[in-house]
Amino acid sequence: MFAIDFLQQLFPDNQLNGKFAGDEISQVSTDSRGDLSGSLFVPLRGDRFDGHDFAKGAVEAGAVAVLWDRTLPVPGEIHSSAAVFFVEDTLLALQQLAQSYRKLVDPRVIGITGSNGKTTTKDLVAAVLGTSLRTHWTKGNLNNHIGVPLTILGMPRDTEMLIVEMGMNHAGEIELLSNIAQPDYAIITNIGESHIEYLGSREGIAAAKLEIVSGLSNEGKLIIDGDEPLLETVHDSSQTITCGFSNACQLQIVNASVIDEGTIFSLRDGTEFKVGLYGRHHAKNASYAIALGRLLGISDAAIREGLANIMMTGMRFQKVEGRNGAMLINDAYNASPTSMKAAIDVVREMDGYERKIVILGDIFELGSHAQELHISVAPHIKEPIDALFTYGELSKLIGTKVNELDPQIATAHYSDANGLVQALEPYLEAGTVLLFKASRGMKMEQVINLLAVQE
Ligand code: ATP
Ligand code: MG
Repeated sequence: MFAIDFLQQLFPDNQLNGKFAGDEISQVSTDSRGDLSGSLFVPLRGDRFDGHDFAKGAVEAGAVAVLWDRTLPVPGEIHSSAAVFFVEDTLLALQQLAQSYRKLVDPRVIGITGSNGKTTTKDLVAAVLGTSLRTHWTKGNLNNHIGVPLTILGMPRDTEMLIVEMGMNHAGEIELLSNIAQPDYAIITNIGESHIEYLGSREGIAAAKLEIVSGLSNEGKLIIDGDEPLLETVHDSSQTITCGFSNACQLQIVNASVIDEGTIFSLRDGTEFKVGLYGRHHAKNASYAIALGRLLGISDAAIREGLANIMMTGMRFQKVEGRNGAMLINDAYNASPTSMKAAIDVVREMDGYERKIVILGDIFELGSHAQELHISVAPHIKEPIDALFTYGELSKLIGTKVNELDPQIATAHYSDANGLVQALEPYLEAGTVLLFKASRGMKMEQVINLLAVQE
């Protein structure tokens, strides 16, 4: 991926002993496990481990170079068989290396942030750009101060398009990531309530997402959720492109409906698209990929092909075959109030089911706003939803509010998984859809497994 000389210029305090000059580094790794032949090992400090303790193993596994905290002694085995680069702080050095490698390869970079829909939008953008350009993108959810540098450092030298998901919990984090990745195009998918605990308010969340502009190139474009009033501060900029359902959006979705193969929608300009994901909010995520694809000169036909091919990964709105012909929807990978409401709305829109049941667990990390934010989900539990089951003390509040708002809807609360499973069993039949949504920590997948057809 780069010659050792590249490291030498970046980190002049080193011990190469001449013998590594001209060597190529094949990959950068922070994990000492696996085959590290020809790699640079970067030891990071976590809460419980210090990567320096694993550096010897990394060198044995083939690492030819290591970054090293200059305050620590270098063990003899490492010194004799690897190039050692001394740095103040290995994490900062990793970030600095990523920033330099981004400039060396010089692809066009797309940075994606937002409260919900980052990974989905990243996958959609990758599907669209990948139809005609050499594209590298964030694997899984590696979107933080370590994942972003590793994503950048994982791109091949001939990469044309680099797509970087940027996540955050605190103010200042997106600014850092944006300055490392230096996007040519930035996307803000939406403003929700996740991490409000650390950011104080939705205004605080919007400001934190807008930090993505700090590394954006002057000629770059900012593609945003045009339905979000808190992003109106950037509407006047010639860099901004607004996407969404409202009339003011430059790229406006005029109708969207959920069908068996996903969501179909049309834009104000009369073009039609289909995305292999369920929910109107995914029409919006797809609209970001359309806006970007068109900016890059990709034909609508190729964009259509990319969008149609996309398939949900993991536990994101995954359809699971339930016992007795019931349809289970596993959307319990993660939850925020916004995504919970969106998922419920999708189930309300779905055609072809006589009975619709929603099972909600607690949403974590909402801090002092937790109660009111849970309660804010209740108005979405309405016709044609037949029943609500809650699991966890906070989600119980949703049920209480639903009783007040719409006594027609049956509600029940369970504090143990077995009780919940038993209560749901009678509902397992053809024509019934059951949506499961909660924070990952609620382990809702265990409940789903007990209700699913066993392979
Ligand atoms: P994370 O912070 O875990 O990385 P993310 O921003 O990458 O999350 P996704 O993994 O794409 O988000 O989706 C998470 C959840 O958000 C899903 O349940 C999905 O249904 C919902 N979601 C996706 N897009 C939107 C959107 N535009 N508005 C509201 N909810 C959305
Ligand atoms: Mg994600």
